Amino acid sequence: MSFHKKSQRHQWREEPGYSLLRKALQDWPLEAVKYLAGNIKGRGGLSQDSWQHILDLTGFDAKHGITELLPVAALWAKPPISDYHVGAVVLGESGSVYFGANLEFPGLPLSMTVHAEQAAVAHSWSCGETAIQALAINAPPCGYCRQFLNELGCRDVIKIYLPDREPMTVGDLLPEAFGPAHLGVQGGMMDNAKQASDFAEGSSHDQELSSLTCTAAGESWAPYSSSYSAVTLLCDDGTKVVGRYCENAAFNPSFAPMQMAFSLLNMRGLHPGQIQKAWLAESRLGQISQESLSRLVLGSLSDVTLDVSHYG
Ligand SMILES: [Zn+2]
Repeated sequence: MSFHKKSQRHQWREEPGYSLLRKALQDWPLEAVKYLAGNIKGRGGLSQDSWQHILDLTGFDAKHGITELLPVAALWAKPPISDYHVGAVVLGESGSVYFGANLEFPGLPLSMTVHAEQAAVAHSWSCGETAIQALAINAPPCGYCRQFLNELGCRDVIKIYLPDREPMTVGDLLPEAFGPAHLGVQGGMMDNAKQASDFAEGSSHDQELSSLTCTAAGESWAPYSSSYSAVTLLCDDGTKVVGRYCENAAFNPSFAPMQMAFSLLNMRGLHPGQIQKAWLAESRLGQISQESLSRLVLGSLSDVTLDVSHYG
């Protein structure tokens, strides 16, 4: 395991810089590439204003523009097992742009893998988006991601952009779908509603971390097990990334909070060696626990010990 950790940490070190962006965007005006490089650092995406400026500089429409960014998003991929680099780009309801990339955990079962589509959706959700306008990918998504997308509250309005194809819907990609409504659940993931109320804040010695993780756990999506949970990773530069649990009606494409936290860490240009503290908050009233899986995933990339708090 130590060999895997060492090689993976090395791979995580570099956030894509100007020269890699220039290579990925050879047809773009130089000014646009420079502007992009200066505005995506540390965020793996673009604010609404920056995105509009990129469209002005390139002359692209929104569909063309986010599709052009796919090779850029793929620069964040961390696939030590497959060496297969995948990027996805989400245009959030606010007009901001979020990159996602695939993430594999060294030495762990393949089912732990984070797909680029999941990474981009989770990235937008973590930044406060409650719906997605569009998702760009450069090939039709796998079945696992189609099922993951079907859990979104905005599933009926999201446009899926594939190069050289007319925009598609989740329904086009997943006809006769099994989803939340089949289990009597209204709405879906990303809907802006507090899901759980049993997270009393202020029970930790670290008030801010406690508050952040409990709020995220209360907003996690766990209607099938009631196991609301979230993970916060505190980094050496003071950055806190917070992963929320996202459950799925079909169970398997559920996205664990530790995997989401690592995916966000990656998209923010940080690496596992920077983690100083990791904390899982979960409901005591749920049917399952994230604790053992969270320790396993954390241990594949970091020597930090997981703190766990139960609520309810
Ligand atoms: Zn997939």
